[in-house]
Amino acid sequence: MVERSIAFGKPMVGKEEENLLLEVLSGTQYVHGDKAKFFEQEFAKKTDVEYAISTSSCTAGLHLGLHIHGIKNGDKVIVPAMTHVATAHSVEFQNAYPVFIDIDPKTGNIDLDLLSATIEKDQIKAIIIVHYLGLPVDVHAIKAIAKDKDILIIEDCALAVEASVDNVKAGALGDMGCFSFYPVKHITTGEGGMITTNDSQIAEKAKKMKAFGYNSALGERKIPGIYDVVDLGYNYRMSEFHAAIGLAQIKKLDYFIKKRQENFTYLYDKLQEIEELYIPYDHNVRFQSAYYCLNILLPKKQTHHRNTMIETLGDKNIGVSVHYPCAVPCFTYYKEKYAYEAKDFPIATWYGNGSISLPVGPHLDIDDMQVIADNIKAIVHSLDIKNK
Ligand SMILES: *Cc1c(COP(=O)(O)O)cnc(C)c1O
Repeated sequence: MVERSIAFGKPMVGKEEENLLLEVLSGTQYVHGDKAKFFEQEFAKKTDVEYAISTSSCTAGLHLGLHIHGIKNGDKVIVPAMTHVATAHSVEFQNAYPVFIDIDPKTGNIDLDLLSATIEKDQIKAIIIVHYLGLPVDVHAIKAIAKDKDILIIEDCALAVEASVDNVKAGALGDMGCFSFYPVKHITTGEGGMITTNDSQIAEKAKKMKAFGYNSALGERKIPGIYDVVDLGYNYRMSEFHAAIGLAQIKKLDYFIKKRQENFTYLYDKLQEIEELYIPYDHNVRFQSAYYCLNILLPKKQTHHRNTMIETLGDKNIGVSVHYPCAVPCFTYYKEKYAYEAKDFPIATWYGNGSISLPVGPHLDIDDMQVIADNIKAIVHSLDIKNK
């Protein structure tokens, strides 16, 4: 019998991706073509937004978002303490000041009480909301808190394709959203990202700023080769190769999400039997998750077992991950720059030390979930993990 091997993530690509990719390769248009345009149109439809602008990554999108809104030297931007470092780096790129806020232990999303207190006492220019592992933040509550304060709200939707709050999709909840198509995200283009917005001005600026700040795009020029440069723009475009893969991937998205939800629901039920573990998740039907993965969290005094658990699972051919291994303000770069300490962010630190992300991706099925649950149960007991 072939031994089962469970990968944390696996790009699900086939003939459709291959055919579209070869179409690009055998043509002459490697950038500025129809593939990116069609991918943007399909993505806008799926996300229920007016505008979708492809980018070279989610990080590029986040940076562009702050750049086009004139976030600059010393401006304060709120970032959750538990997220991918890209969220905070985008603020640093602008020489702005990341104001880190700890997370809610129940969900891993930004703590709304701390957020509210910070907005009351500090002059905040922007908030980057992160839908942690696909579970959407209560953006309505944040808007209510930020009301009349003219605060820009950018959603980091890297793990939140198809998540929604009250049937409004992530990416349409704030002023703009940024998605990622890195290989193990919900859909992939290799590297790539997408900005979504309902604001025509944001869309126009993003298009200009992702392409050097040209006043007119390649297809819009009256005389070929003649253009003006009106801004300090970047090269954050998505190539036609990447877009071709995305165009094939987005047709599979509904199926991917359905499989993720099935796997997640099954595994979540099975893991409920293990009293020693916390599972940060919220069942509220208003908040539809994108089910990126299923996090388990060891009790605070048991987090020293975490790495052993990961290794033991690895020995059983079960690939897991950690989102993320450290509260962002306590990564060396931020710690040295701003002198933060772990005790300033106790919940994010707990997640960093004690969480394991279990896979629920569409490359896996219910049998895989059962294997994961059985192994977790066995390991928790063999390590004698207590629930205090
Ligand atoms: C993956 C990820 C990013 C970075 O996305 P890239 O496309 O690799 O730039 C940003 N934020 C979150 C929450 C992520 O998970």
